[in-house]
Amino acid sequence: MGKNVTMDKIVNLCKGRGIIFAGSEIYGGMGNTWDYGPIGHEIKSNIKKQWWKTFVYQNRNTFGVDAAILMNPRVWEASGHTASFSDPKMDCKECKTRHRADNLIEDYAKKKGLDVNPDTMTDEQMSEFISENQIKCPICGKCNFTAIRQFNMMFETSRGVTEENQNKIYLRPETAQGEFVNFLNIQRSMRAKVPFGIAQIGKAFRNEITPGNFIFRTIEFEQMEHQLFCREDESGKFYDLYKQKAWDFLISIGFDENNLRFKDHDKLAHYAKSACDIQYLYPFGFSELNGIHNRGDHDLSRHEEFSGKSMLYVDPITNEKFIPNVVEYSIGADRLMLAVLCEAYNEEVLENGESRVVMKLSPKLSAYKVAVLPLQKNLSEKANEIYSQLSSHFYCDYDEAGSIGKRYRRHDEIGTPYCITIDFDTLEDGTVTLRDRDTMEQVRMTIDEVISFVSGKIS
Ligand code: ATP
Repeated sequence: MGKNVTMDKIVNLCKGRGIIFAGSEIYGGMGNTWDYGPIGHEIKSNIKKQWWKTFVYQNRNTFGVDAAILMNPRVWEASGHTASFSDPKMDCKECKTRHRADNLIEDYAKKKGLDVNPDTMTDEQMSEFISENQIKCPICGKCNFTAIRQFNMMFETSRGVTEENQNKIYLRPETAQGEFVNFLNIQRSMRAKVPFGIAQIGKAFRNEITPGNFIFRTIEFEQMEHQLFCREDESGKFYDLYKQKAWDFLISIGFDENNLRFKDHDKLAHYAKSACDIQYLYPFGFSELNGIHNRGDHDLSRHEEFSGKSMLYVDPITNEKFIPNVVEYSIGADRLMLAVLCEAYNEEVLENGESRVVMKLSPKLSAYKVAVLPLQKNLSEKANEIYSQLSSHFYCDYDEAGSIGKRYRRHDEIGTPYCITIDFDTLEDGTVTLRDRDTMEQVRMTIDEVISFVSGKIS
């Protein structure tokens, strides 16, 4: 986490600097939905590009897919989502708002420093804990709740040609099933040999009712997932490997390892051999950033059972037949975006006593790589020429409005790593001054040198 960061500061900066806006804002918004603005869209897209580069391009034997959001409803029976993808919810009898019992307990435990995990409790135990500790409704402050009930979190919609003949279908609550149902297609069409991976980045939808801490928990979000298909006796080795890869990826995009930690799941699904999360230290405390699961052969076996299609893999060397095991690594692009913003945010007091907010984003992730700033309006012709030249290499901004100090501050706040100023010497010798966002040091160089310097920082 950066210096002096709070959720309010992040939300305000995002709104004011074109990073993220409240969804449907002119209509009063819609709970747990957010729209990415020009800068935010660019940062998130760079996060996804870095992830894809690491987990597909640089991860041999991984194949990318882009599966449909709407799937045959039998998929959700096979995956178990129709029967049990639910959260323990209760209503406040006083103010009629709905809450997740597990979240209320988690927040209470964090505040009081208690070691309590609602994942290991039954609904009755959670109810008891809430009333014994007089945990209050976060909206009205009373402790008067209904009994806990389980609500399915899948969004339903319907398809059909006539009003009477409608079939219930679902918006996918996770991208993983798109990878599992394409196991046979990928294995055959790409002549893939176990161990191999299938990766996907795509939207998922969950009917989350808990206030979401900005983009931490939303009803529509993107997941970045890698499913590794392997032999059972190698699944432990790959589980450890993907834990390490997930960690290394976070470090490679600028995280301080002191703000990250592994957390093993206290309660495992009946089929899972092991499962853990990587948690990040958000301003509201350590919380899940991504999950890594050793899922056994549960997923492919269930699809074999429900689809009637054999999922047996035949080893081309030993002729052994088996259903591959799955090691899953799943991370939310939006939840990672929030962590990236919190990690980058810094407030600094400068030598001249002024203060600045600076987003110390990795240059790989920043929206603009370079801002082109003419020192005077009558230098704009040369500055435009340089802007066009640089724009064919990376995304740049052109800004001639306001004092140079104000222009630097604007770019510090969105994390532009380099600003170049164009002055009268530029007309003479073609050199510009390049300012480093973090050190604020300035160096004179030619445009060709700017191109190779910045390219080196983002490659
Ligand atoms: P949580 O316990 O926070 O609800 P989860 O354990 O249900 O998350 P998974 O089903 O394992 O999450 O999903 C994988 C990843 O997808 C999570 O680690 C997280 O990064 C992201 N994710 C899950 N739900 C949401 C959501 N509602 N909004 C944003 N990201 C999400």
